[in-house]
Amino acid sequence: MEDRKEINVSPEKGEGARKKYNRNKQKPIQTIRFWVQVGFVLLCLWIGVEFYNFVRFLETSGLEGSAYRPPGAEGFLPISSLMSMYLFVISGEIHPAHPAGFFILLAAIVVSFVVGKSFCSWLCPFGWLSELLGDIGEKLFRRKLKIPMWLDYPLRSLKYLLLLFFVYSIFFLMTEASLRTFLDSPYNIVADIKMYYFFIDISRFSLIIIVVLFFLSIPIRNLWCRYLCPYGALLGLTSLFSPLKIKRNSETCIDCTKCAKVCPSFIKVDKMSTVISDECTSCLKCIDSCPVADTLELKPIIGRSTLLKKYVVFGVVILFVLVTGIGMISGKWQNNVKIDEYLYHQQYLFGYGHPTSTNEIKKLNKRNKESDTNIPKSNEEEDK
Ligand code: SF4
Ligand code: SF4
Repeated sequence: MEDRKEINVSPEKGEGARKKYNRNKQKPIQTIRFWVQVGFVLLCLWIGVEFYNFVRFLETSGLEGSAYRPPGAEGFLPISSLMSMYLFVISGEIHPAHPAGFFILLAAIVVSFVVGKSFCSWLCPFGWLSELLGDIGEKLFRRKLKIPMWLDYPLRSLKYLLLLFFVYSIFFLMTEASLRTFLDSPYNIVADIKMYYFFIDISRFSLIIIVVLFFLSIPIRNLWCRYLCPYGALLGLTSLFSPLKIKRNSETCIDCTKCAKVCPSFIKVDKMSTVISDECTSCLKCIDSCPVADTLELKPIIGRSTLLKKYVVFGVVILFVLVTGIGMISGKWQNNVKIDEYLYHQQYLFGYGHPTSTNEIKKLNKRNKESDTNIPKSNEEEDK
């Protein structure tokens, strides 16, 4: 099955020396990855259309649209989901306001723990868009532009700072009472609808930021994912504990550097024996590009067996479907908010606020300690 080929090897292995190698005959997996990504993008668009119909229902008091609210929309509420996760950790309880968001975040973490940061390159619609823009940039500029290392490292730390802020505010600052107060609050209940209006009624400032990020993502590949996404930061850290890693066999490697050249995360795969990086998204482009058989493979960190690329597809998709499916089968996927409650909250939607700083969280903790009262319905109320 394997062709023998001969090639001039790199100067490091001897000037002008030639080396025979077995050609890699494995089929690339990138087309399948693309269609998996497209499938998830279409799923998100479908959720978006259903959510639009739901909001129309609320806006017209039931005259238009549909009373069905797609739970999948909660996948776009990562902070509320992180809070639900914390509540689950300390009490074993899945908060009923956005349970689907909890299961989606859990699924992303489980997938990243098993198959590396694959959620970003296989399932995330923003990852797909970033990749598309990066590909356009590469075609336009005929090369992959790389931010210099002195700037790249500090920029990469931004997403960790954002993650640190959220983790500190939720896991270290909030008492259980404050956590429950927030999760039960009207703000959290309608957080998905408020997010909808954020984009529909977008402010000039937010629009400028989004447009700038969009266009900068063309020359700077994965700008959002690499530098700013705290969700990706969390999954990147989780992926470091994944037992599956890309390993390079330095005996058979011919130092062609193809793996490093195609890597969208600028990882020097050709210099590593095991790829251990929070930036590796398990896209498998490096393995696909390697011309030598049995040289770049996905393997358990301990042991010699190889995981075929097709099993990564099953691993990513099945694990994600399994975890979210458990939420559906267990009857915990749908939230417990009645349509009448939504219709009520729709009237006061724009008055609902939330703590916006660590000081406000401390105040909330203090208030919860002093009395058992609920979170104020709006920032204006709090000011009064
Ligand atoms: S190391 Fe390989 S799998 Fe990881 S991001 Fe780079 S190309 Fe993709
Ligand atoms: S591991 Fe990388 S450098 Fe080595 S042969 Fe494969 S593509 Fe070339």
